[in-house]
Amino acid sequence: MPRKIMVAGNWKMRNTVEESVALASQIAQGLTRRDLEVLLCPGFLALEPVALSLSNGPVLVGGQNLYWQDQGAYTGEVSGPQLKAAGASHVLVAHSERRQHFGESEKTAALRVQAALRAGLRPLLCVGETQAERQADQTQGVLESQLSGALAGLAASACDRLILAYEPVWAIGTGLTATDQQANDAHAFIRAWLAGRFDKAVANSVRILYGGSVKPANAAGILNQPEVDGVLVGGASLSAQSFLAIIQAA
Ligand code: PEP
Repeated sequence: MPRKIMVAGNWKMRNTVEESVALASQIAQGLTRRDLEVLLCPGFLALEPVALSLSNGPVLVGGQNLYWQDQGAYTGEVSGPQLKAAGASHVLVAHSERRQHFGESEKTAALRVQAALRAGLRPLLCVGETQAERQADQTQGVLESQLSGALAGLAASACDRLILAYEPVWAIGTGLTATDQQANDAHAFIRAWLAGRFDKAVANSVRILYGGSVKPANAAGILNQPEVDGVLVGGASLSAQSFLAIIQAA
């Protein structure tokens, strides 16, 4: 079965609740494609209002992070069951900004992936190398260690809920984009890794999105790559016009 393209927007720590609901509604109203999945990841406060405003429609809502305990005395954290109850179907895990600014590791990524699955959410696990790692020819080694750490202990049967995002750190929010070929090569490496760690069926079915300064102007080239199953968009998802143009490019 062909892998369904996903276009996901990560709004990061941007937009008030009111602005988020307005943006979500502009995107939903402008959406004409039904052959792909569209996911919006607003800030936590806006998640439930956005989900309620989109209910009955095709646009999906996801969290940007989750804590790995389901409930308890963990001040300031948000759990998988809380996200699910608020209307989320997906959740980003180990985005590079979480790794960079909040010290998240492969170990905590694995705990978050398991927590997301336990809550009935689809984890969208982010992996990717820094510029220094790419220059030192360490891209594959970094991807391998991030994947094996974050997916430690995961059964092949759980992979039907898993989505991966290859997000080279040097391309996130910088205006630099991996070339279409660099993206496809990294995705092919990840898919081969999945085949070795799990099996061919898992490798063929898990979607791998690309993220890193995707804009309307470069979206078609990236989305046309055979190993690219969608895009995770930061900056350009904050305008309905540019996000819808990216969707149209798919
Ligand atoms: C992201 O936040 O995951 C991202 C890829 O951001 P940007 O599109 O702004 O580079």
